[in-house]
Amino acid sequence: MPVSRSSSGLRRQLDVAVVGGGVLGLAATDALLRRGVDVHCFEGRPPGSGQSGGLTRSFRHRHDDEELVALAAESLRGWRDWERRCGRRLIGPEGAAYLGMVAPDAAGLRRHGIEHRWVRPAEQDSVFGALAPVDGPLLSDPTAGAIRARRTIDVLAGWVRDRIIPAHVHAVSVPGDGDGVELQTADAIYRARSVLVCAGTATPRLVAGVGLDLPLSCALHVRPHFRVRDGGDGEPLPCWVDRSGQFGETVYGSPIGRTGRYVVGLIGEGVDVPYPDAALPPGTAMEAYVRRVSDYVRAALPGLDPEPVGVRVCVMSKLPAGSDALGVWHTAGVGAVVGHNLFKMAPALGELLADTALGGAVPARLRRLTDRALGVAAAPVRVAG
Ligand SMILES: Cc1cc2nc3c(=O)[nH]c(=O)nc-3n(C[C@H](O)[C@H](O)[C@H](O)COP(=O)(O)OP(=O)(O)OC[C@H]3O[C@@H](n4cnc5c(N)ncnc54)[C@H](O)[C@@H]3O)c2cc1C
Repeated sequence: MPVSRSSSGLRRQLDVAVVGGGVLGLAATDALLRRGVDVHCFEGRPPGSGQSGGLTRSFRHRHDDEELVALAAESLRGWRDWERRCGRRLIGPEGAAYLGMVAPDAAGLRRHGIEHRWVRPAEQDSVFGALAPVDGPLLSDPTAGAIRARRTIDVLAGWVRDRIIPAHVHAVSVPGDGDGVELQTADAIYRARSVLVCAGTATPRLVAGVGLDLPLSCALHVRPHFRVRDGGDGEPLPCWVDRSGQFGETVYGSPIGRTGRYVVGLIGEGVDVPYPDAALPPGTAMEAYVRRVSDYVRAALPGLDPEPVGVRVCVMSKLPAGSDALGVWHTAGVGAVVGHNLFKMAPALGELLADTALGGAVPARLRRLTDRALGVAAAPVRVAG
């Protein structure tokens, strides 16, 4: 590992450092390495231990903000490049289906030339065989699919393996002499010319040391999974977004690859916590969330057994504008990214974060998204049509 040491051995010099080896930190490290940059990634636990943990995530194109639609389309091209490089499938062929959408909700898909179609209730089995009869059309996004999340982390970590420094970063600061950025770990102090903080829910705490105040809130979210009644041998089930409320809840869903299991969660719902590993407030009944999801599955998804076969409690992070908002900041040699639902964006965001670290500024499109994430630039971009 080409880390130059000072004579004391305590201080070490780096060029570019990434803090955090979740999907975004690994993607940014890989993007920088491919540009010939001397980059190192600090990760205190096994890569992908934070919000990037688990087996599946949905890749979908549809977002309320059209710039996110464009970013998703760019990301899909990046996913295909990653698949070519590793020779493995990282996003399955399942597609995505949405219920409760109206014509303007597909404006971004139209504008960015993303394949999609409206499916009448009489034909709904052609896109989602496990679904009970619904009122209203489904919007089908056939090039979406279920991300193989763990495989993605393994592939990315493999690509950057000799650049990972297995250390927890305790603090990020600008030293008194103003020369670079200082990173404190348990066994050494590093100086880097440029630092990208991709530490998930730990990012706000780390970058507070350079004067950034990121308004990220955290909640614990319950995600039960269910057995597909046909064992998953039939047509693959699509990723799912139901905003209609027809079955009493708004939910998302995703197949877990070809395991015959399907994850369902309540959109945006969780128990607020002041920081990620805080104790749950006394009296919190996480089971109540599982029951609500089971009731939804019983009513809306007869192709699944409504008794959950497993559950995962995970940390959900959010900026003021809500579930799909993302923010990127840069000051004094330090870049930082936070948001939610960013797994699918990793290939495109990895490149844009590399641009941020090398250019010393946040690219304009990310600045616009950040402003909207904070509610600064009022409404999200949405074109009526
Ligand atoms: C329930 C749930 C459902 C989701 N569904 C979807 C979905 O369908 N589609 C989608 O695209 N996204 C989804 N997401 C969001 C997505 O998983 C996250 O946005 C994404 O994984 C964030 O990646 P990250 O690299 O920014 O952060 P993380 O994955 O949290 O990675 C941060 C890493 O930094 C490390 N770290 C932290 N502090 C330090 C430190 N001080 N020093 C060194 N290392 C440190 C951690 O160990 C961790 O490995 C979902 C998330 C949850 C919780």
